[in-house]
Amino acid sequence: MARARAMAEAGYNTFLLRSEDVYIDLLTDSGTSAMSDRQWAGLMLGDEAYAGSRNFYHLVEAIQTYYGYKHVVPTHQGRGAEHLISQAMIKPGDFIPGNMYFTTTRLHQELAGGTFVDVIIDEAHDSTNLHPFKGDIDLDKLQALIDKVGPEHIPYVSVAGTVNMAGGQPISMGNIKAVYELAHRYGIRVYLDATRMMENALFIQEREEGYADKSIAEILKEFCSYTDGAWMSAKKDNLVNIGGWLATNDEDVFEKARNMVVIYEGLHTYGGMSGRDMEALAIGITEAVQDDYVRARVGQVRYLGELLVDWGIPIVQPIGGHAIFLDAKRFYPHIPQDEFPAQTLAADIYIDSGVRTMERGVVSAGRDPETGAHRHPKLELVRITIPRRVYTQAHMDVVAESVKAVWDKRESARGLKMVYEPKYLRFFQARFERL
Ligand SMILES: *Cc1c(COP(=O)(O)O)cnc(C)c1O
Repeated sequence: MARARAMAEAGYNTFLLRSEDVYIDLLTDSGTSAMSDRQWAGLMLGDEAYAGSRNFYHLVEAIQTYYGYKHVVPTHQGRGAEHLISQAMIKPGDFIPGNMYFTTTRLHQELAGGTFVDVIIDEAHDSTNLHPFKGDIDLDKLQALIDKVGPEHIPYVSVAGTVNMAGGQPISMGNIKAVYELAHRYGIRVYLDATRMMENALFIQEREEGYADKSIAEILKEFCSYTDGAWMSAKKDNLVNIGGWLATNDEDVFEKARNMVVIYEGLHTYGGMSGRDMEALAIGITEAVQDDYVRARVGQVRYLGELLVDWGIPIVQPIGGHAIFLDAKRFYPHIPQDEFPAQTLAADIYIDSGVRTMERGVVSAGRDPETGAHRHPKLELVRITIPRRVYTQAHMDVVAESVKAVWDKRESARGLKMVYEPKYLRFFQARFERL
């Protein structure tokens, strides 16, 4: 009763709930991980000098060591880095091919005057396809775009590892290498959304021939060597509550981004983070590349996914790195996409048990900037996202049982109508009413 009221008051949007009304919080893995004792100790070593903080140099060293890029520009979080890279590289009228859109990434590309073009393999749009690397780029689609618009209108290929919107699916080493070769033949650069690259590296270790005996750190570094730079939401894979960075081997991109960061984020040696934040982040990077940790992290996600699969509940397969994605089209086949089945399902899970999840479907996809119509993504999903180093397997059991309880009464579910819609990134703040 209390949860039904809280959900209605929050406009059936789990982003609008108060955290004190949530029992197990699986809204996101962003900034929700637990920092280690070493990271907390690092906070005590904050050098809060305005310029040239010691902690900044520790951060640069960690990124150079594990990712291998030359230059680093710190930012307050991932979208700060997306803003800088989009403004530094995209001209109005440009096209940016990538392996499926991400909400904030695509918006910054559009705000810079670009058009995102999805060139991921078709298998990624099918929640039942068991392709081991559903994050791969379709080289024929990429080639076709180059032929159509000309390489001079493609500033970079926007590659993500893993692919969040496809269900946390990895891209293979063979594919990134081929993308890099193809792009560079035309003078097109390759930039990486490195937000969840540790998980991507584990999938390469498990699934790609020749990598079983390589460490996560070795795989990460090789992967990044087939890209020209990266942006990062450190709130995910780098195990901190806030932070981000942009890294590049390109002198021109570095110079532009380093200049722009002082307008939007802060001086180029802190970029919106405090010294202590940068210290915790530098330590987080070294912890995040440890094989045992990555295996345990992805293993916990898999544990939850396998429980649901055993009970016949429709999820995206193969099971991804950071989350389980319920397939709302198969869960609620009687609710049409314009009545927001995934938004409905996230609300219903909360009402059942207090477990908070989020929508990744028609609401997250937003409207086409040209036509103003809803975009209708093939994947209409609810993301059950596991924070790092926070919950136990027993919590996962509770979550699985709640999803099962909602599944058992799925036929009586009713959809939603949107009653408030903000202009940008509407999924964060939109409000709904029950039909
Ligand atoms: C979270 C995320 C971002 C944006 O980063 P923020 O730190 O939330 O600003 C970019 N790309 C991916 C894949 C993400 O998951």
